[in-house]
Amino acid sequence: MDLYSGLPYWIAKNPLYNYFNPLESDYNTDIVIIGSGITGALVAHELCTAGIKCTMIEKRSISTGSSTASTALLQYEIDTPLSELVKMIEEDLAVKAYESCLQSINDLEKVFKSIGLNPDFERVPSVYYATNHKGHKLIEKEYVIRTKYHLPVNYLSKKELNDKYGIKAPGALENNVSAQIDAYKAATHLIDYHIKNSDLDVFSHTEIITYQKTASGYELQTANYSKINCKYLIIAAGFEAGRFLPKQVMKLTSTYAIISQPVDEKFIWADKSLIWETKEPYLYIRTDKNRIIAGGEDEDFKDPVLRDKLLRRKVGILEKKIKKLFPKIPFKTEMAWCGTFSSTDDGLPYIGNWPGKDDMFYALGYGGNGITFSMVAAQMARNKLEGKKDSREEVFGFERMNI
Ligand SMILES: Cc1cc2nc3c(=O)[nH]c(=O)nc-3n(C[C@H](O)[C@H](O)[C@H](O)COP(=O)(O)OP(=O)(O)OC[C@H]3O[C@@H](n4cnc5c(N)ncnc54)[C@H](O)[C@@H]3O)c2cc1C
Repeated sequence: MDLYSGLPYWIAKNPLYNYFNPLESDYNTDIVIIGSGITGALVAHELCTAGIKCTMIEKRSISTGSSTASTALLQYEIDTPLSELVKMIEEDLAVKAYESCLQSINDLEKVFKSIGLNPDFERVPSVYYATNHKGHKLIEKEYVIRTKYHLPVNYLSKKELNDKYGIKAPGALENNVSAQIDAYKAATHLIDYHIKNSDLDVFSHTEIITYQKTASGYELQTANYSKINCKYLIIAAGFEAGRFLPKQVMKLTSTYAIISQPVDEKFIWADKSLIWETKEPYLYIRTDKNRIIAGGEDEDFKDPVLRDKLLRRKVGILEKKIKKLFPKIPFKTEMAWCGTFSSTDDGLPYIGNWPGKDDMFYALGYGGNGITFSMVAAQMARNKLEGKKDSREEVFGFERMNI
């Protein structure tokens, strides 16, 4: 699959993690993780930290799937507002989904502190502004339900929003628990750390093309005719996980992002907070030092040719939206890219075993909070392998599809 095109900023900003180690013979191991994006990297970290031996298989250069195109805002707020999610699933499960994402931001911070490497993880506030009257009604409902469950949230009136952030909108919700990261740096640092300090084996440029069940686990066939036998399989293949799923569970769509040339700090809004809006698809903004990253303009299709054709037009639309929001910022696009994205009906990821497949675990962080879900998936995979019950399975597992 063509996961992205254009020039994702992180590829230009970071040196390439120069690792080339294709598997060229048959191989036996206990646990295989397919995928070296942020999800596979976090899964490997959790398993290595628990002393569980694992092997990672990646068909591309390490971590150059969707994680390298990610704008990497870390929010506890899921794409489906809590006041809507409680209408789709039981209220306590909906609240648990939000609480899990909140915890996940703290856990991501701890993971990188524990290995002494900082992938530009930065705490920043988040501002969710109402685009219009309808959006204002939504944030009012959100404020009530989030306060009821002690989730961190402040309400900003029209005047407070304008005074603090210079945004002209009917009101906003704000919190001080969000963060941002460089997902490519995060994934490659983690993988490199565990190659050097743990017993992690990594084979890059090795595509798994088929798999079949054996008496003791799975036999995987690679594109270069090697066979891998393993007892347990973890699918962290991101938006390309379809071939490992008995049934399609996600909808693949397209999304767009741009980054500005550096702008004078005096133009940047208060606290370099994350900013997003109630309108769908939403515009979102973050910074990286004194550059501004904006994204959104999602389209309902996944066709990469059609997606790429729209890139120039989408850049223009995103620029206009930023100009409207912050007329004084001299925003000039430096790089632009577009990518495949994925959503589910309830905005929640799929994490867990497919019913009846106890030796295959899916770590699929689909949705706008992909990275916070990756952290949850990594912990759930570790708990599963350690035989510990994880109550988050009830929220994120496949059972909710009524298979
Ligand atoms: C433009 C954009 C903006 C985004 N913004 C945000 C955001 O602000 N916040 C957020 O939390 N999330 C965001 N996301 C989503 C987030 O980036 C993803 O959820 C996350 O990167 C997925 O990580 P992953 O490791 O699961 O997938 P990937 O990074 O794609 O890694 C999966 C890996 O599996 C490998 N693979 C697949 N199939 C095989 C196979 N058969 N054999 C071997 N290897 C295989 C792939 O090559 C790939 O490297 C954004 C995504 C995009 C595209």
